Amino acid sequence: MILPGLQTPCPCRSQKSFGDCCSAYLREQAVAADPVTLMRSRYTAFCVGDLSYLKATWNPETYPEDLSADEPADWISLEILDADVEGSEAEVEFRAQLIFDNKLETLHEVSQFDLVDGRWLYHSGEFQNESAKPVSIAASAPCPCGSGKVFKHCHFKRG
Ligand SMILES: [Zn+2]
Ligand SMILES: [Zn+2]
Repeated sequence: MILPGLQTPCPCRSQKSFGDCCSAYLREQAVAADPVTLMRSRYTAFCVGDLSYLKATWNPETYPEDLSADEPADWISLEILDADVEGSEAEVEFRAQLIFDNKLETLHEVSQFDLVDGRWLYHSGEFQNESAKPVSIAASAPCPCGSGKVFKHCHFKRG
């Protein structure tokens, strides 16, 4: 796993640099103070394949032992749709997109977080669009990541 440079845009799409956004959490120099910040930092951890951070921020009761990085995916967007904190429990609704196998997949989830010993942890999530199918992307179409390049010159993978 290689963390992004401190000056590069944060993978969580906050418009901030990695150094001003998720870096301190992934480096375990700070603990995310609220569930949305935690959500963003975990998204960044998924983008860079930081399994130790994902484990550190996952409620041990629901942590999947088989979590592994052997299915690389290009996460391209994160949108926080709603967040609701009540005491030591929280719900965050988000939509994330990734490109896998040259298709665009949209993940719409409501995640549950709990405050455990003063630290917010991810508990579980419920998919809101289980039946959604990955969508093919034409090689000559604009890449869904928003780079402005055509897909075949951006996130397209051969073979
Ligand atoms: Zn970030
Ligand atoms: Zn792209």
